[in-house]
Amino acid sequence: MYTIQGYEKVKSLEEAYELNQKKSSAVFGGGMWLRLGNRAIGKAIDLSDLGLDKIEETEEAFIIGCMTSLRDIECHEGMNRYFHGMMKETLRGIVGTQFRNTATLGGSLYQRFGFSDPLTAFLALDTTIEMYAGGRIPLDEFVSMDYDRDILVRVHVKKNGRKAAYQSFRNTKTDFPVLSVGVSRLDSQWKITVGARPARAVVAENSGKLSEILSENLMKEASEAAIRQFASAVSEKVRFGSNMRASSEYRRILSEILIYRAVRDVLSQSEEGKM
Ligand SMILES: Cc1cc2nc3c(=O)[nH]c(=O)nc-3n(C[C@H](O)[C@H](O)[C@H](O)COP(=O)(O)OP(=O)(O)OC[C@H]3O[C@@H](n4cnc5c(N)ncnc54)[C@H](O)[C@@H]3O)c2cc1C
Repeated sequence: MYTIQGYEKVKSLEEAYELNQKKSSAVFGGGMWLRLGNRAIGKAIDLSDLGLDKIEETEEAFIIGCMTSLRDIECHEGMNRYFHGMMKETLRGIVGTQFRNTATLGGSLYQRFGFSDPLTAFLALDTTIEMYAGGRIPLDEFVSMDYDRDILVRVHVKKNGRKAAYQSFRNTKTDFPVLSVGVSRLDSQWKITVGARPARAVVAENSGKLSEILSENLMKEASEAAIRQFASAVSEKVRFGSNMRASSEYRRILSEILIYRAVRDVLSQSEEGKM
């Protein structure tokens, strides 16, 4: 069980950042992960007065405050319309509705959990993370950075016409995923992310040679075999591990299947002309 000695509902990000420089301090998102630990927390930093629990939609991007609940993202009409239900598919399997009403996107992405569904999904999109001191960092870089004492403020997701889909596999409903996959396509460029390997999500392919070959073959209508080959070749590039949920070999096979399904989903969106 954790203990908390002091609590501060901060009035500014500057105040939060300064308080967080002490090793014993902890920024609180929903506190759903923190509550499971044994830390002796000197100062609990509460960001809930800073108006960071909203999703803003502009012409160019969705801008999500760090205190936005996973449930608000799951149910956000604009994001789900634009990404064809991807947010709902990504988040619906995480524990239960009440849990997702409390857990935040800031806490989820800052921690870069090896099992994270949102990390895998947002990595497949054009996402940048806005840190208080560190400024804007592409999620592709942020995913492999070490923890520091900065504050994750907002998440920016570009609206550039990218089609996207998410797939995950769980042994039982509400358990951690055994594997997760994000796929997106911008014209002929494909981006594939694989998470719950069981390690931090990685970008397995991003507009590389395999994407070119897939796009060429799709034009020749040799699609079925081409997609299967693509899914297999991308999966070969990923390092999988074993744990109590699955072996590395099982994960590799799952990866091929989930990439295949997500590519098909993205292609069907393109055919329908849907966003
Ligand atoms: C039982 C259980 C099952 C789960 N299952 C899944 C699952 O299947 N899939 C999945 O993807 N996730 C799962 N999660 C993770 C969950 O979805 C959240 O990611 C997690 O609870 C963290 O979110 P939070 O808002 O509760 O963060 P908190 O617990 O408040 O914080 C987590 C960490 O992030 C830091 N932090 C929080 N906000 C910020 C910020 N703005 N800036 C800097 N640091 C910050 C905190 O100091 C702490 O170190 C599970 C969690 C639990 C407890």
